[in-house]
Amino acid sequence: MTSAGRFAPSPSGELHVGNLRTAILAWLFARSTGRRFLLRVEDLDRARAGAEAVQLRDLAAIGVTWDGDVVRQTDRQSLYAKAITRLQEAGLTYECFCTRREIQEAPSAPHAPQGAYPGTCRNLDPAELEFKRSLRPAAIRLRADVAEYTVRDVLRGDYTGVVDDLVLRRNDGVVAYNLAVVVDDAEQGIDQVVRGDDLLPSTPRQVYVASLLNIPVPEYAHVPLVVNHDGARLAKRDGAVTLADLAARGTTADAVRDHLLGSLGLPPGPLERALAEFNPELLPREAWVWSAPGGRSAP
Ligand code: GLU
Repeated sequence: MTSAGRFAPSPSGELHVGNLRTAILAWLFARSTGRRFLLRVEDLDRARAGAEAVQLRDLAAIGVTWDGDVVRQTDRQSLYAKAITRLQEAGLTYECFCTRREIQEAPSAPHAPQGAYPGTCRNLDPAELEFKRSLRPAAIRLRADVAEYTVRDVLRGDYTGVVDDLVLRRNDGVVAYNLAVVVDDAEQGIDQVVRGDDLLPSTPRQVYVASLLNIPVPEYAHVPLVVNHDGARLAKRDGAVTLADLAARGTTADAVRDHLLGSLGLPPGPLERALAEFNPELLPREAWVWSAPGGRSAP
């Protein structure tokens, strides 16, 4: 299988300019290294009717093209189930019955990092297990035997972050993002993952899961986000931040693309032109504060 990069949006709504900028970067990273570029719709959770079609149309409008068919996670449940079975058979999982509230209220385990699962259900005895099973369906958690893991990122260097007994399958049967992403990237031959740096803290968990499944770890590049004037990650409430909003104000998709390229120090025009000048080492390492093209900032 030839190597590939990817963009993997969650179809929870329209893409905003921050998502589009990340997509452009993922495309440039892949194309500049001779990789294929794949599009995967992460619709296991948070999918909104109609959102996928709008996202694909907006990506195409700014020139982000992809190879082959779009892949949807909801079509790939058997792959995730197989991976969970492998981990179960290796004794690397356990059933967890905790509600979110119970987890919040549980005293955290000694030395456990903030936010890590406190391990309540890790060692239930058979009687407790039977009782809890009678109360509610179980989630499946990973039995992690490390508390942190170090990953390498092309832009950020070595990054060490928390690994806990993460959920692999929720108790409503939905497969967790951290498992699905690892299985998909490996199965699709994706060996380069370019995504927003808000996902860097999840990466040690994902690389650890990959190591347990004996699957290769991709190269990572976590790229700076687009933020609003308060420094917070851009969101729909920040005004005209989608192609549709911007079009309503008279800004074309080409102008948005050029503005995003400009923010990356790249020349305007088709992405193919920017490709010739793309050099990851010259990319800005700081978040970019959004203001709409033409100097009019979002209301
Ligand atoms: N689906 C995730 C998101 O839209 C991205 C996952 C990834 O790139 O690994 O935030």
